Formats: sequence, structure tokens, C-alpha cells
Amino acid sequence: MPKCPKCKKEIAQVLRCEMANVVSVMYLDEAGKVRLKEQSFEPEAVEFLCPECNQKLFDYSEDAENFLKGRDQIPVALVRG
Ligand SMILES: [Zn+2]
Repeated sequence: MPKCPKCKKEIAQVLRCEMANVVSVMYLDEAGKVRLKEQSFEPEAVEFLCPECNQKLFDYSEDAENFLKGRDQIPVALVRG
């Protein structure tokens, strides 16, 4: 089983966290009520976290996939950190 480079625990899975930023315009309508108008939906960001220590391990699903497959594709910077 691959080991987390952060906490050194063996992990069989990673947490995939998806984030999106919804930008809305807030304004008052004729009655003075607050309204929100959705303006844009920014592209999602995905992070892969260790389920044991909750630290971010990867930005890309390919890296996470390689990690789970046991291929040592962990960026050197992460291993040192
Ligand atoms: Zn960990």
C-alpha cells in the first residue's frame, strides 16, 4: 500500500475535494429586499487529501491515481516538506 508522504501512514484511498467559487451580485429590489443574482461559476478546483492527516497531497487526479497504483510519482517538494 502506498504511504502518505506527510504522515507516513499507509493509505488505500485519498479524499477528493472539489471546490467552486460562485460569484453573485447582491442588490436591493424595488421593495428594498436583498437579492442575489448569480454572476459566474468559476472553474472548479480539485484537491486530493490524505484521509489520515487531511493534508493536501495532489492537485491532479493523474498524480493521485499513480500514487494509489503504487507508482512513486510524488513530487520531490512534497516529500521534503
Ligand atoms: Zn497523511
